[in-house]
Formats: sequence, C-alpha cells, structure tokens
Amino acid sequence: MRNVEINMYNQEDSIVAISTPPGSGGIAVIRVSGSSAISIVDQIFQVKVGLLQAESHKAYWGKIVAPSQNTNKKVEFLDEVIVTLFRAPKSYTREDVVEISCHGGQFISHRILELVAERGARLAQPGEFTLRAFLSGRLDLSQAEAVADLIRAKTELSFKSALSQFQGAFSRQVKEIRQSLIEICSLLELELDFAEEDVEFVDRSEVEKKLRKTIDDIEIFLSTYERGKILREGAKLVIVGKPNVGKSSLLNALLKEERAIVTEIAGTTRDILEEQLDIRGVLFRVVDTAGIRESTYKIEQEGVLRTMKQIENADIVLFVFDGSEPFNKQDVELIKQIFTLRKQTGVIKNGFVGAINKIDLEVKLTRDELRKQFGNYPLVEISAKEHLGFRQLEELLIKFVLGNETFAQDEPLVTSIRQRQSLLVALESLNTASSSLIQGFSSEFLAVDLRAALDHLGEIIGEVTTEDILGNIFSKFCIGK
Ligand code: GDP
Repeated sequence: MRNVEINMYNQEDSIVAISTPPGSGGIAVIRVSGSSAISIVDQIFQVKVGLLQAESHKAYWGKIVAPSQNTNKKVEFLDEVIVTLFRAPKSYTREDVVEISCHGGQFISHRILELVAERGARLAQPGEFTLRAFLSGRLDLSQAEAVADLIRAKTELSFKSALSQFQGAFSRQVKEIRQSLIEICSLLELELDFAEEDVEFVDRSEVEKKLRKTIDDIEIFLSTYERGKILREGAKLVIVGKPNVGKSSLLNALLKEERAIVTEIAGTTRDILEEQLDIRGVLFRVVDTAGIRESTYKIEQEGVLRTMKQIENADIVLFVFDGSEPFNKQDVELIKQIFTLRKQTGVIKNGFVGAINKIDLEVKLTRDELRKQFGNYPLVEISAKEHLGFRQLEELLIKFVLGNETFAQDEPLVTSIRQRQSLLVALESLNTASSSLIQGFSSEFLAVDLRAALDHLGEIIGEVTTEDILGNIFSKFCIGK
C-alpha cells in the first residue's frame, strides 16, 4: 500500500460502475471492486456453485435476479450473464473485483448497476478503479496515466507508446535516474556524518562526475518530449497558402488517401475545424486555414487572428504553392509573414514544409525563385486533383515529426506536460547543486537541492504525491476505468 494521505473519496467503500461505453452494444460490463464486492453480487446472482465459494479467475454463467414486486414470486429474473471473479490481491485494483457481463443495453446495465448500488456499493468516480490500482501499489503514477492514454489512443503508434509507458519503460528510466541521485546523496551524507571532524573524504570530483552524468541523462530524456507528445496527442498540421492554390483540395485528397478518423464530439463547439488523419500509425490533426476564413468571413479580423493562433501552435506548417502559376508577390508576403510570426513566438523547430501543387498542369513556378524565399525547407511536388506525389508528402511528414528515428516498443519517452514539468524542475535543482559543488559549498547546500530533485522525480511516478496531483490526473479518466 502507498502511504498517501488521501481524502478524495473513501477508500473503504466498495465501488461500482458500468465500464463499457454508454449506449447499446453486444455486451455491457458492470465492474465492482472492494471488500464487499463478492457478497454484494452474490445477493443478486444465481449460480450453481455460489459466488462466495467460487474460485478466482474463472467465469460463471448464471442469472441476475431482483426481489419481485409480485407477491407470488420471491425473485424476478432479469438477465442471463457471465460473472468473472478476481479475488484480492490478484486483480486490477488488488481488491476483490467482480465483473458482470450482461446484454449490452442501456436498460439492463443500469438496472444491474442500481441493484449493486442498492446493496451497498458506491458509484465510482472517474478513474477510481485505476486510482485504487495506484494506491495499492499495483501501478505507479505514470503507469496509471498510461491507462488513460491507452483508452484514448486513436492510432497504432499512440497506442504503442502508451503501452510501453504502461509496461513501465518510462518508470524504469525515472527510477534509474533517481537511483543515481540517491547514490550521490548517500556519498554526501557520509561526509555530513563526519562533518565535525572536518574530514572531507568524499572525492568531490567523483560527485561532480556523477552529477554531470545524471544531468545529461535528464536532458537526453527531456529531448524525447517533442516526439513523445506527438505520438500521444498527434501532430498539428496547419495548411497555409494564398487563395485557390488548392489547400482544401489537398486536405480532401489526404482524407481520401489516408485513414480519416471520425470523432464524436458530443456537445462541444469547435471554432476551428480540425480533421484527424492516421498516416502510418501517427495521428495528424489537420487544419485548413482556407476553411477558417470562409466560416468567419463576416468577422474577417477575428478569422485572421484565429489563423495566426493556429499557425503559432502548429507542429508543421504546410505551405501550398500553385505550380501552374509563376511564383508571385502574394506568396512572398505570405512566407515572410508566417516566418516572422513563428520566429517571434520562439518556436524551437520552424516546422515548415512546402508542397507545389497542380503539377498535372503546365509548371510555371520556378523552384529557384521559390527557394530564395522558402530557404532549404523540404519541398514536394503534388497534384491534389490527380492524387500525385502523396506518397512523398506522407514520407516527408512522418520523417518530419519522428525524425530519422522510429519508435521502439521499450523506448522511454516523455509524453506529457506533467512529466516534462517535473523533469525540468528536477533539472533546475541539479544545476543549482552542480554550481554549488563547483563553488566549493558545503555538502548541506548540495544535499538540499539533490533532495528537491529527488522529490520532483518522485512526483512523476507517484513516490511523492499530493491529493492535487492525483485529483488532476484521475478526474480526466472515464468512469468505470
Ligand atoms: P484553396 O482556396 O487553396 O482551398 O483552393 P481549392 O482547393 O479550393 O482549389 C482552388 C481551385 O484549384 C479549384 O478549382 C480546384 O479544383 C483547383 N485545384 C486544386 N488542386 C488542383 C490540382 O492539383 N490540379 C488542378 N488542375 N487543379 C487543382
């Protein structure tokens, strides 16, 4: 068990939720966890062996029954179900867990949920099963976060990177870094123990070397963030170009060529139309700036501002040029404007890619002229109309977001802002420690910063945690997970 002071919700309760999505489906699963999970379900489940005696990790066919309203009958039969039993501690939460698979209709799944709740289980909060898995020590915090990513993943690589985090590749890396810091701390503490005798038998250059290596490791780890974030959240691709160069045609062709991801956006209004594409396992969130203008033509100014915002936040800005026309002033203006905008906002990678469109027509655009303005950023030739050049475009986009590296299953990647933030503050503390060391400060000074760094690293995997951190993470989960 973890030693976390947590008042969010009572951990003693047994909890219940429908773990399958709302609506009708083949089956629905109602999940119950806690010390009274088995005895509660036993009251409504008729099965040959009797659930109280039933063996763990087995599935049982039986009937869900409820007290009958009809005075002639004792119980009313509700549904035929399969119940799967997981006795503590070999379960997702390490508590007793019972999963009831019933027919996948709204009525029956809710009826069973009610029956279980009436017998003493509390309705689970979002992510509460996974929270319990974390609190019982079954998962660390970054593994628990990965569970939410696994569910959310829309493409192969998003799923694989979440799976790798779930299996602990990320945590192992953080633990290794922490271990090396603990070693440095114990070296220094040895020195502190003998401080009064004024002996300095710790080899300071050794400490410095170890510290340097740890700082390097964190920096390398942090450098995986861009790739990690893109694998997790997708790359934002914004298509720009003067009117009529074929931006919308390009987007439509991409949507046809690639696997478009249809998302249900329940009840949210989006001011920007974003299309989602799965290109070779990587998620791309594509915004066509032509669309933005059209939909907001009445408030042109606001439309322009929105476009600018999109360009600022893009991972890739795809410029479309019309190959059937000479390169002109309007193109030059656009390039200048966008290059300046991205420079001003301090975007690290410029992220520019160019597509010369309409190559099915006679080509009048000269590359040299274009290059003068567009520099050495990658260029491809395409025809949105005839579907030419899309393979090269696709390769370029993938290479652009993943670099030359692909993704290895066990590669630890920094994927979330939370992880990155904690690593950054840990790094800051270590840099302070490093300069204290160089300036010959005493071990006490160093130890304070090293311990701070240890805490920040501990936050990432949940060795050090607060209710705020947990609330923040688990409130984003769905109910029933
Ligand atoms: P946007 O204003 O940049 O979004 O441009 P559109 O996608 O609306 O295209 C403008 C015009 O160019 C339309 O008439 C398209 O049919 C045409 N067009 C777009 N791509 C191509 C292409 O590859 N070849 C040819 N011949 N025409 C194209």
